[in-house]
Amino acid sequence: MIPYGRQDINQDDIDAVIDVLRSDFLTQGPVVQEFERALSDYCGVSHSLSLNSATSALHVACLALGVGPGDTVWTSPITFVASANCALYCGASVDFVDIDDKTYNISIPKLRNKLESASLDGTLPKVVIPVHMTGQSCDMESIHELSKEFGFRVLEDASHAIGARYKGHPVGSCQYSDICVFSFHPVKIITTGEGGVATTNNDSLAKAIERLRSHGITRDPKQLQSSKGDPWWYEQLDLGYNYRMTDIQAALGRSQMARLDKYVGQRNSLSDRYDELFSDFPLILPHTMPDCVSSKHLYVVRVKREQLTASRDEIFHSLRREGVGVQIHYIPVPMQPYYTSLGFSVEAYPSANEYYQSALSLPLFPTMTHVEQNFVVATMKKLLQA
Ligand SMILES: *Cc1c(COP(=O)(O)O)cnc(C)c1O
Repeated sequence: MIPYGRQDINQDDIDAVIDVLRSDFLTQGPVVQEFERALSDYCGVSHSLSLNSATSALHVACLALGVGPGDTVWTSPITFVASANCALYCGASVDFVDIDDKTYNISIPKLRNKLESASLDGTLPKVVIPVHMTGQSCDMESIHELSKEFGFRVLEDASHAIGARYKGHPVGSCQYSDICVFSFHPVKIITTGEGGVATTNNDSLAKAIERLRSHGITRDPKQLQSSKGDPWWYEQLDLGYNYRMTDIQAALGRSQMARLDKYVGQRNSLSDRYDELFSDFPLILPHTMPDCVSSKHLYVVRVKREQLTASRDEIFHSLRREGVGVQIHYIPVPMQPYYTSLGFSVEAYPSANEYYQSALSLPLFPTMTHVEQNFVVATMKKLLQA
């Protein structure tokens, strides 16, 4: 089976991890800081706070932004559940804004409409979490303008999008947001096994995230409430968690970063090649906005259902049977039983629903060969003609 995604581990990665295993610090050591520095340099941002997952990063980012009971957080229905769960962890409620039919990112006109009516009935969100679906940035400049007009904070879920660019800025530079989160799960662009990072240019948000990932504890003399200078002294200032990344993970991430631009280049050229080979297929191909460089985390095609006899589900099953490891990203979050039990229904998001009925994520990973890619295309051809 050709998987839809696969990590790439080389000898440098293995050596970097072994060096940490032989060193004095498996966690809370210098490599975590080196990885964070490398991320900040790459993204052109003041602070990078590593965490044990993007899910943890989204959680503490919401807390740092002051999300709590009585608040509402909005995100996209086409995302992994973590983008919405983070608000519920904080005791807040969540709501969704339907997607754009071309980019599958949050729709700006629908966001504006929903903000206008929320402003009338006093239900404006505290935070909006745009998700950079497949590795293409949302229209962040518009979201930033809306955030000023309606008074909400912006937390980017860029789990798909490390290495991507928007209007010339690296995603993660937080030019148009308060905080940006990346995931380093093995299916993502670079990996630390499990892991994530939150980037920000805001010093107090960075301090808050740093404390929250480590029990709410600080030793920083500037943050201490008492003036005790004793070497054993630390203070717990908030109710935090143990969400730290280990040095073992950071070593893998730092080593992988050396190949980040290469990976994004390989993903883009494979993706361009798919575009060419599929040009006359009954498929809606990915649409990249002119001001975006996508990291191409996913290659999503949509079957033109009206032109086909086979359903998307039949095509999915046949592809798997033939050895093509397709996936579907994502089942709309409002369709999940947990969310329907909260009263959500996918019918409220027609574009997300239509997308879900037709989408297929085809295999795409940096080490994919043209032979593998030709096999995917030939299999699609056979099935779509049937
Ligand atoms: C992978 C992913 C997450 C969660 O990342 P973890 O590091 O696995 O916690 C969150 N949001 C999106 C959009 C993702 O793709």
